[in-house]
Amino acid sequence: PSTSPAKWSDDTELNDAIAIQRNRAMYPLGVVAVLFFLPVGINNLLQGRTLLGVCVMLAVLILTVNSIAHFRGREPPLSYVWVIPPSAAGIIVALFTMGIHGAIWSYPITLFTYFVLRRRMALAASALLWVVSVTALLVQGDIVLAARLAMSLLLTNVGVIVVLNIIGELQQQTRMQAITDPLTGAFNRRHMDLCMHDAMERCRRSAAPITALMIDIDHFKDINDVHGHATGDAVLCGLVNLIGARARRLDRLFRMGGEEFLVLLADTRLADGLIVGEALRREIVAADWPENVPLTVSIGVSEYVSGESYDAWLNRADLSLYRAKQGGRNMVVG
Ligand code: GH3
Ligand code: MG
Ligand code: MG
Repeated sequence: PSTSPAKWSDDTELNDAIAIQRNRAMYPLGVVAVLFFLPVGINNLLQGRTLLGVCVMLAVLILTVNSIAHFRGREPPLSYVWVIPPSAAGIIVALFTMGIHGAIWSYPITLFTYFVLRRRMALAASALLWVVSVTALLVQGDIVLAARLAMSLLLTNVGVIVVLNIIGELQQQTRMQAITDPLTGAFNRRHMDLCMHDAMERCRRSAAPITALMIDIDHFKDINDVHGHATGDAVLCGLVNLIGARARRLDRLFRMGGEEFLVLLADTRLADGLIVGEALRREIVAADWPENVPLTVSIGVSEYVSGESYDAWLNRADLSLYRAKQGGRNMVVG
């Protein structure tokens, strides 16, 4: 049996890789803005296209301010989102006054919306841009050109979305690989440290109780020796599936290493942790295992005491587990 890693995936949002790229692009974008769009803006103002000129100058101003901040190693003070309104206004003016010469700018601005806005907003903005661009050319009576723009801008959007989806999927995969154990799909030790520190923080701030079950398979070495390593692996996967099937949404299962696991029970006191541990122990004894291996586990239970260190908490769970082993195994000790 194998567990899909997604089953154990975190609720927290993915890191926004685009945000990093956005910050990187800030400086070159500012330089381009000053070198190219500043003259364009000035030219528009001089030619009497005041509205268009003002729009271009506003976008240039935002990009310049951000890129100066970036050059000085500071946080960019203005969100890139603010570039969208003047760009959109500018392009609408350009579309209705210059036809296809204005429409050409729909392409980079479409890319820009996906770059700076959240997906849904970007979709809405680029759909709007598409409608306005196509309408502008239709109004000017150029139906063939309007059709070409409609198709090519649509394909541009599809292309961007496909690429963004690929990036998103790769990012999700990389993230899952970093926090899960490849054999069982349970979270790994590194992620356990992180989650437990988070839980301690929550406990300190809001007094939310948290209990850890440290689970160690009894005489697992014998299973390997008698039935082989592959059967041992199958048992480990089966155990993760069994625990996963009865875990609540906020519970987390980690493989600490080898045949040792840790379950973090959110909003749970020691007494309830012992009950959960006992139910789990019974279920494991009763379950069918590969090659009819008789499987038992020992479980050490410890509730986090607000203020104690991470190591102290883990040590107490470890000590309980040790006592369960000393007491004859196949038991829960808290
Ligand atoms: P105890 O009841 O005292 O816990 O005895 P035990 O045999 O379970 O404990 P011990 O620590 O002596 O042995 C653990 C074994 O787990 C030894 C190691 O080969 C095996 N093991 C560790 N990781 C894996 C794995 O990924 N797959 C398999 N099949 N075996 C593993
Ligand atoms: Mg063991
Ligand atoms: Mg062990």
